Amino acid sequence: MEKEINFINQEYIENLLIEAKDTNYKEISRILDAAQNREGLTHKEVASLLEIKDEEQKRRLYKIAGELKKSIYGNRIVVFAPLYVSDYCVNNCTYCGYKRDNDFPRKKLSRDEIQKEVKLLEKMGHKRLALELGEDPINVPIEYTLDAIDAVYTTKFENGAIRRINVNIAATTVQNYKKLKDADIGTYILFQETYHKPTYEKVHPKSLKGNYEYHLTAFNRAMEGGIDDVGGGVLFGLADYKYEIISLMLHNEYLEENYGVGFHTISVPRIKKAEGMSLEEYPHQIDDDTFRNIVAIIRLAVPYTGMILSTRETAELRRELIKYGISQISAGSSADVGGYSDREEGKTRTQFELADHRTPLEVLKELLDEDYIPSYCTACYRMGRTGDRFMELAKSGNIQNVCSPNALLTLMEYAMDYGDEELTEKVKTVIARELENISREDIKQLTKEKLEKIKNGERDLYL
Ligand code: SF4
Ligand code: SF4
Repeated sequence: MEKEINFINQEYIENLLIEAKDTNYKEISRILDAAQNREGLTHKEVASLLEIKDEEQKRRLYKIAGELKKSIYGNRIVVFAPLYVSDYCVNNCTYCGYKRDNDFPRKKLSRDEIQKEVKLLEKMGHKRLALELGEDPINVPIEYTLDAIDAVYTTKFENGAIRRINVNIAATTVQNYKKLKDADIGTYILFQETYHKPTYEKVHPKSLKGNYEYHLTAFNRAMEGGIDDVGGGVLFGLADYKYEIISLMLHNEYLEENYGVGFHTISVPRIKKAEGMSLEEYPHQIDDDTFRNIVAIIRLAVPYTGMILSTRETAELRRELIKYGISQISAGSSADVGGYSDREEGKTRTQFELADHRTPLEVLKELLDEDYIPSYCTACYRMGRTGDRFMELAKSGNIQNVCSPNALLTLMEYAMDYGDEELTEKVKTVIARELENISREDIKQLTKEKLEKIKNGERDLYL
């Protein structure tokens, strides 16, 4: 049966937002009570929550979001890095430095160059990558992406290995999604950029990407191609953020209803200065305070969806947003093709400006100081625990039984391979504390055994 694709109903969303304008203090308190009691929020309640203004209520919102996050994710924060392999692009997205109209020498990495980048990423301790490339069917066909994935997975440097590649390529066909699935990708990531169709068409002029419906239904085709882990997102600053949040909720529900599983992750990038654009042309940019609300409200609206924050944001803000809902962060990132190799010589070009330039080691130390457990775990994907199998475990809360020990194991592995003395001490303290917190004796015992094996250099542990 043909699936209904008009799930982003502009009139419905706009009416919801207009009605929500009258939300009073009392109603917001009631919604916060419901959120605290884990009752699940309706579209209308989320629209009302987006009208929050009172400072005390905002603090309560952050607290509830933080508690909800902790109950689902514990103290774990997943760490990853992007890998840009090509800046060829036939599109003309007004906000992007790689747009067609920007005249600069385009680059795509050869297999050798990709391997060089991967070794540098492995040297930093990374195990998870997000593969990034622009859209260009002639210069960068699907075969190029498949070869790049193979180059990444087969490159090993000392004890390092990339165990999961999430892929962010342009909306494509079912057939191409099948190829990505066969290449063992982790999550297929595609940002809608904006769900507001008139804005979408304005910021994607005269280009392949300009087809709103084709872009919006990319996850349908990905699911039909066998990919059951998909990651959505919007670029905050293009259109009204309230419109985007309700749309993310609708898209997530649509995927759940039609394919049995919603977004695995949602990314929350904010528009940044890039080559050939001026931020003044974007009146919907959001300040830090609004951004805090957005992260907390998304956490309440879609509790089981991971939330990703990149190094576009400053270390200070990232530190804070992790408390309210972020579950995955990038670290030590370069947003440039060949950027890891070029870094020491001074960068020339970037897709957009970055704000957090710390190394993964520095980020990990800070996370540990704040009582988080940085995790390089990729076990679910390696065990075939994706899509609805993953969501069932997540929603029942049983995922904690595997996540916590796995996070500790990957942290221990990182400390042994890449840590300095200071980090190793911090990791030892965290492991001792966390082993105490694991309530099931069998899991505690197994974790101890596996930690021993890591010390002896054994790696095949489904980390
Ligand atoms: Fe190309 Fe992506 Fe940049 Fe658009 S956002 S110009 S599709 S690289
Ligand atoms: Fe993520 Fe699965 Fe590892 Fe938990 S066990 S941290 S959900 S990969």
